[in-house]
Amino acid sequence: MNFEMTTEQLAMQKMARDYAEKEIVPIAAEYDEKEEMPVDLIRKMVAEGFSSVSVPEEYGGAGMDEVTVCLVTEELGRGCAGIATGIGANSLAMLPIQLAGTEEQKKKYLPDLCNGKLASFCLTEPNAGSDVSSISTTASKDGSDYIINGTKCFITNGTYADYYVVFAIVDPKRGARTLTPFIVEKGAKGLDASRKEKKMGIRASNTAVVVFDNVRVPGENILGNPGGGFRVAMETFDISRPMIASLAVGLSRAAYEAAVKYARERIQFGKPIIQQQAIQFMLADMAMEIEAARSLVLSTAGKIGKGVKNLSAYSAMAKGYAGDMAMRVTVDALQVLGGYGYTREYPLEKYMRDAKIMQIYEGTSQIQRLVIANNIINGRI
Ligand SMILES: Cc1cc2nc3c(=O)[nH]c(=O)nc-3n(C[C@H](O)[C@H](O)[C@H](O)COP(=O)(O)OP(=O)(O)OC[C@H]3O[C@@H](n4cnc5c(N)ncnc54)[C@H](O)[C@@H]3O)c2cc1C
Repeated sequence: MNFEMTTEQLAMQKMARDYAEKEIVPIAAEYDEKEEMPVDLIRKMVAEGFSSVSVPEEYGGAGMDEVTVCLVTEELGRGCAGIATGIGANSLAMLPIQLAGTEEQKKKYLPDLCNGKLASFCLTEPNAGSDVSSISTTASKDGSDYIINGTKCFITNGTYADYYVVFAIVDPKRGARTLTPFIVEKGAKGLDASRKEKKMGIRASNTAVVVFDNVRVPGENILGNPGGGFRVAMETFDISRPMIASLAVGLSRAAYEAAVKYARERIQFGKPIIQQQAIQFMLADMAMEIEAARSLVLSTAGKIGKGVKNLSAYSAMAKGYAGDMAMRVTVDALQVLGGYGYTREYPLEKYMRDAKIMQIYEGTSQIQRLVIANNIINGRI
């Protein structure tokens, strides 16, 4: 395993860090407060390549590896976990196209999605969250077309997406074994994504309910083989979970850095609180956990695309560990600021609210443990 970053990786990391500092940090609190996604900035960032770092150059991406994706995502997550989620959701929705799309589909959709168009990954339903096999959205064959009916919920970028990657079952009798991903374009008759969720955190991201009411799509919009959807979804998560884990690392770093700065400046009992061992130990734990999570994330990202059989287990470890770590670190970082941490004058309360989603989306912390445990039981790790 090589832990040395290449010159290109370090350059991308610095570029993302500078960009986040200049464009994201100054507006993060405002959009969190307004509960609004900065659509123009997200589109601009997509067009500038932030969601297509690992998309092959022939389709408009930067053609870099998943380690670079994670380095970039950490910097965006440090800027604002909500805004980084909007960017990450675009990358997430592009994965099924890259994994299962035909050459024609890749050429049709990926360049657009590298160039400022937005996409949503629509898997979750009101009665099918962790349990993907309970999906009830259907796609019934009608001539060479399919008619999609169902409701997807908690869909990131849902309101603003130009393309929706939607998972539906093509044979209700055979259920999830016939799960199939389709591309649905914005403006399709019967598609409604107007209802936004009101959230605790990552409020600068858009989360919507997406309803499909007799939405007609041509058969050529199927990604991969009919019935191959479950596998496509799971392979997508193997790649996207380390990315989300790196977002959690970035968010934790922001909280840690704010706590260190405050601890140096805040005087109580005649000296900076950083001189109190209780504060030092909290900061030391934060530094240790962030570093551990980053190492796990980057070593997992390094396995992607190498044909590693137990990748699912490592991706789940990275996501599960980094998500839980972000919660612990942001709670302690807020504690270092005492009452000020609890006010909206400082960003710590936002970091703590944002951290909670890291244990929920892309598979909850419990589901990550299930994936790891299944790999243990099957002797893969
Ligand atoms: C802000 C936000 C953005 C999201 N973005 C997207 C998106 O873009 N696209 C998309 O498709 N989805 C998205 N999601 C959905 C997200 O992935 C789901 O919320 C998540 O997978 C959990 O599903 P659920 O909410 O239905 O919880 P449930 O599955 O109902 O789980 C409830 C609780 O039970 C636990 N649990 C469930 N089953 C088990 C089990 N077998 N063993 C142990 N514990 C279990 C869970 O861990 C959890 O604690 C998003 C969600 C949010 C909140």
